[in-house]
Amino acid sequence: MRNLKQDYYTNSFSHIYVEEKILSHPRTRAILAKFDGAHVVRIAHYKDIFCRRGQDAALQHQSQKLILAAKQGSLLYAGAPVCQDFGNSAFYYTSCVMNCIYDCGYCYLRGMYPSGNLVVFVNLEDIFAETERMLRQQPLYLCVSYDTDLYALEHLTGYVAAWNAFVQKHPQLVVEVRTKCANRDLLKEMEPNRRLIFAFTLSPERIAARLERGTPSLKQRILCVKEAIERGFAVRLCFDPMLFVSDWRAQYGEMLAQIEDAIPMEKLLDVSVGSFRISQDYLKKMRKIAPGEPAVWFPYENKAGYYQYPQALLEEMEQFLTGRLKQTVGEDKIFRWNSGESRQ
Ligand code: SF4
Repeated sequence: MRNLKQDYYTNSFSHIYVEEKILSHPRTRAILAKFDGAHVVRIAHYKDIFCRRGQDAALQHQSQKLILAAKQGSLLYAGAPVCQDFGNSAFYYTSCVMNCIYDCGYCYLRGMYPSGNLVVFVNLEDIFAETERMLRQQPLYLCVSYDTDLYALEHLTGYVAAWNAFVQKHPQLVVEVRTKCANRDLLKEMEPNRRLIFAFTLSPERIAARLERGTPSLKQRILCVKEAIERGFAVRLCFDPMLFVSDWRAQYGEMLAQIEDAIPMEKLLDVSVGSFRISQDYLKKMRKIAPGEPAVWFPYENKAGYYQYPQALLEEMEQFLTGRLKQTVGEDKIFRWNSGESRQ
């Protein structure tokens, strides 16, 4: 696995843009202290940098710059009807970070954001306050790692640990942290909590190596899943997005065998299965900015503004996975994305 602390951060983040209003925020100071040699640039608003016209997001991603900002306006968003809600009615998400240090060739963020740079919102307490306000009205299921991989940034932000501590104080709150990160050491620093769900996205080894650039291998992710289960965290496995390759059946079959060999499947909270799908606007942009990515050129079917695999193929792929998983985790723990109801 890429050593994020010693390798990634020293090669990237040569420039750190900081909104003037949060220059003296304790979290700003703590993050800047990690980058002695970085060139710090004061800015009025993160959008002045992040939303400039004519940026090459794919190129920027090769040498990401860091932007520190305050999140304003809406802090929590209702989960779109196109997202997997795992049976939760009050389903919300929040973005404390925009963009990701990983570089998956199929990632919808490429179609969503105008920049490849990373924005960290340092005012996490404001998001906590808004969450508490909403908790006074109803219990919440909150996804905090949608538009980034929050756990992969833990050395930088400490946000997963902060959410974990926050969840402990709020019995009506369940938080999902979706990740491809495999850092087992960080798990040891956190108090296990059944209401903080670590949702590990797993892909076959060859697909991960080819399309999920910068991410840990399947083997490393499996070891991290095992450690999380042993430590008592609630663990979800996400086979989402499931990707078509010519030998998909063999690759996904091998992956399941590796997982079943290493993990006590009966201890999983649940699993999620969903084949790749994406909004037509995002895919159009991805084809333009990253035409070399194989995942963007499949002849998808457009269903109500979302591209997905042809229905027969989609069914074949997803039922292959769910059929195998039923034997080890039980049908009631399998959440399958329903066609037309997910965004990525
Ligand atoms: S890990 Fe997730 S958010 Fe990050 S690049 Fe890959 S798909 Fe996108």
